[in-house]
Amino acid sequence: MKEYFKNTWDGLYTAFVGMKITFQHLFVPSVTIQYPSVKPPLPERARNRLYVNMADCIGCLQCARACPVNCIEIETVKAVPGDEVGNTSQGKKKALWVTKFDIDFAKCCYCQLCVFPCPTECIKMTEVYEFSEYNREDLIYNFTTLNLDEIREKEEKYEKFQAEKEAQKLAAAKAKAEAAAKAKAEKEAAEKAVAETKTEETQKPEESKPAEDEKENGDSAEKE
Ligand code: SF4
Ligand code: SF4
Repeated sequence: MKEYFKNTWDGLYTAFVGMKITFQHLFVPSVTIQYPSVKPPLPERARNRLYVNMADCIGCLQCARACPVNCIEIETVKAVPGDEVGNTSQGKKKALWVTKFDIDFAKCCYCQLCVFPCPTECIKMTEVYEFSEYNREDLIYNFTTLNLDEIREKEEKYEKFQAEKEAQKLAAAKAKAEAAAKAKAEKEAAEKAVAETKTEETQKPEESKPAEDEKENGDSAEKE
């Protein structure tokens, strides 16, 4: 019986000792937060997920060139005359359609090196750091604002423009070659005509010489 009460007391005592710290913390201010509904403030220079404001992107590729892990892929198509690509918020006229702007966040090391060279400051770090995915492909973010049909249209338009320009260049080169050939032929004809005239002039005195000789012979005969 004595043993029974001792064991009961030991159980209650150890539970009380274990709960002592818990009871103490009921009366001190809380140092924990209710994450994820409450989030801790981020340090000033925290590096998180990138965001690209495509309205300001001019497709200069400087961010992609600066990236040490090549996780930014950009493709552009030149605007053709008549296209209105628009201006950046700083008033710079855009000349390229950005048909692809992908960032693979599975490769990104959050070094922020892509942010500094951007001339329009349109690529920047956000405060988003919770974006895990089950598939790696889902970490490739596509920022372009053009849809597939629009991209195809821009590409076709540019190809057509290039083909027309090439045809014009060829036609101009052909016309130039023809003009040069014509000028050369005219020059040769003129030189030939001059040469023939000269030949005729040098032959004339010889042809007229026998006549003069005959005339001289006739005069001498008359004198005799
Ligand atoms: S943060 Fe660094 S690794 Fe990530 S896209 Fe920018 S340059 Fe590349
Ligand atoms: S550096 Fe800036 S403007 Fe140039 S392609 Fe990158 S995001 Fe666009």
